[in-house]
Amino acid sequence: MAIRKIAQIGHPVLRQRAREVTRDELASPAMQQFIDDLVETMRDANGAGLAAIQIYEPIRICAIEVRNNPRYPYKPEIPLTILVNPVLTPVGDETFENNEGCLSVPNLRGTVRRFVHLHVTAWDRHGAPIEETVHGLKAGTYQHEVDHLDGTIFVDRVADPRTFTTWTEFERFHRDAFVEQATALVARVGS
Ligand code: ZN
Repeated sequence: MAIRKIAQIGHPVLRQRAREVTRDELASPAMQQFIDDLVETMRDANGAGLAAIQIYEPIRICAIEVRNNPRYPYKPEIPLTILVNPVLTPVGDETFENNEGCLSVPNLRGTVRRFVHLHVTAWDRHGAPIEETVHGLKAGTYQHEVDHLDGTIFVDRVADPRTFTTWTEFERFHRDAFVEQATALVARVGS
């Protein structure tokens, strides 16, 4: 396994639409090795998720995992999930304000509106079908990662640029209010 370099905002790779992965490609040792690298890179950088495009492979794969995350200590845990060719469909039109950061956007967080309920179809890393409905902060993480596969970065979706903060100033001035709001959301809809 290897830790890969993470593309930073401004690099054109992050603005591509990633292409679908075929079943044959997914089954190849090279692709399985790539997925191991994606997971290792995400964990090394303390990400809650990482899309293949962020490590310079414009293909529709992303990894998601939340486990005692120091970048997002208030996030409910998500077991390691690999989504291949994911398709997200909002369930209902309810939205919430999520405060997001990104490994491709150094030292910036901002408030993004996300759907509360999502239907997800994808393959897992072995090509088995995934079909689930996710809610709340977990749904926010899924939307952030799948956005990357379409060349969209969270900053594109920040409606009010006055919500941008550095990580330090988020901790100092905004964290408590957001955690209170996020905790209420988790209590209401689950993760
Ligand atoms: Zn990101």
